[in-house]
Amino acid sequence: MKISIAPSAGFCFGVKRAIDMAVYSAGKFGTELNTIGPIIHNPQVVCLLEEKGIFPVESVDKIRSDTIIIRSHGIKAGIADEIAKKDIAVIDATCPFVKKAQDYMKSASSEGYFIIMVGDKKHPEVQSIISFAVAGRYMVLNNLEELKHVDFTEKIALISQTTQDVMFYLSVIYEVFRRVKKGVIVFNTICDATKLKQEEAAVLAARSDVMIVVGGYNSANTNKLKNICKSIQDRTYHVETEKELDPGWFRDAENVGITAGASTPDWIIKKVVEKIKVIEKQNK
Ligand code: SF4
Repeated sequence: MKISIAPSAGFCFGVKRAIDMAVYSAGKFGTELNTIGPIIHNPQVVCLLEEKGIFPVESVDKIRSDTIIIRSHGIKAGIADEIAKKDIAVIDATCPFVKKAQDYMKSASSEGYFIIMVGDKKHPEVQSIISFAVAGRYMVLNNLEELKHVDFTEKIALISQTTQDVMFYLSVIYEVFRRVKKGVIVFNTICDATKLKQEEAAVLAARSDVMIVVGGYNSANTNKLKNICKSIQDRTYHVETEKELDPGWFRDAENVGITAGASTPDWIIKKVVEKIKVIEKQNK
């Protein structure tokens, strides 16, 4: 059985940067540090960071430390205002790609565009970006059906979640272009790391008999990878750790592909590979 790992599987630039900043700060200050929400969407990494004194809290009033780390997804504009009123030091680990999307949102919104943000409205990154829009002048869209609620006589700006499926974003752009009356601007806010991961995952899924996608169940980009792979290879399985691998998945498989979300550390990917090798021996 040949096991192939997508070259860009695992931590992306923004996640690596946020974790490096958090770990460096924890070592430097030697006291408890807080993040608003988990620093990345991977429960195993969040547990490891807690051992280093970095704890997520749900809201500003729950902050226990005198330093707060802003995670790679960014935070809502209102929360940043709340933090600014307190005597708390801020380490801003917002990914530069998310920052750029926040800036686009601010400028398009202030120029009077109605914003269509393509993404998951419950995702913290979307909530942080959309918080920079003018109230009541935006919608978050997750399927083409929802376009029926848009007033196409408005001038429209399109912005995407950084981890959006490229093909879906293109389909929304096409539909908006077809219907819009006044004008439309499109911001290319899907980050390069996401595009690369999705392209590699699609190629690998096409030449694998079984595809394993590794990452947190709460990770949007991991779920997107799973959906892309599943649309190409029905034998696609999403796991958080090697413990969930089922030997039955690998029967008769000659080529196994592995990809992993942007918040999946290398050590989890390695454990998955080792476990698949053990399963291979057992299945013989
Ligand atoms: S997936 Fe892209 S936007 Fe999100 S943290 Fe990683 S590099 Fe930044």
